[in-house]
Amino acid sequence: MTHRMADRFSHWSHCYGCGPKNDRSEGIVLERAGDDEVSARVYIDRDHGGAPGFAHGGYLSLLLDEVMGGVAPSPQPRVTTDLQVRFLRAVPLDSDVLVTARLREREDQGFSVQGSVRVGGAEEVAVEATAYFRFVDLSRLRRRS
Ligand SMILES: [Zn+2]
Repeated sequence: MTHRMADRFSHWSHCYGCGPKNDRSEGIVLERAGDDEVSARVYIDRDHGGAPGFAHGGYLSLLLDEVMGGVAPSPQPRVTTDLQVRFLRAVPLDSDVLVTARLREREDQGFSVQGSVRVGGAEEVAVEATAYFRFVDLSRLRRRS
């Protein structure tokens, strides 16, 4: 790893997923679990339901996108350009989940990550994902939108 970050961090103060200065943020706290690994523990409350009694797939995808992006191997701004999510087991509401992400490969243009969601202390993966994040020049991106 080329840069050092605190063990617990948010990637941007106004991020919807993790930003402490965003009043509507989901408040996800990213935790460095190793040089190339980030995790977050999240309580899935009843406001994040999809099918009766179970977590919404979009919310689980958000958790994965957030934690997987936190694995960034450099402080360069980046955007998600690919996110593939496989729902293997239903995640019940009112449960604690552990979201983990591990860097798979770093390239000049970006990096690929593997992620998973486990319910409670379970060994079995409930949701797995792969993603690609591309490094961007934010000033150029803003001019295009
Ligand atoms: Zn964030």
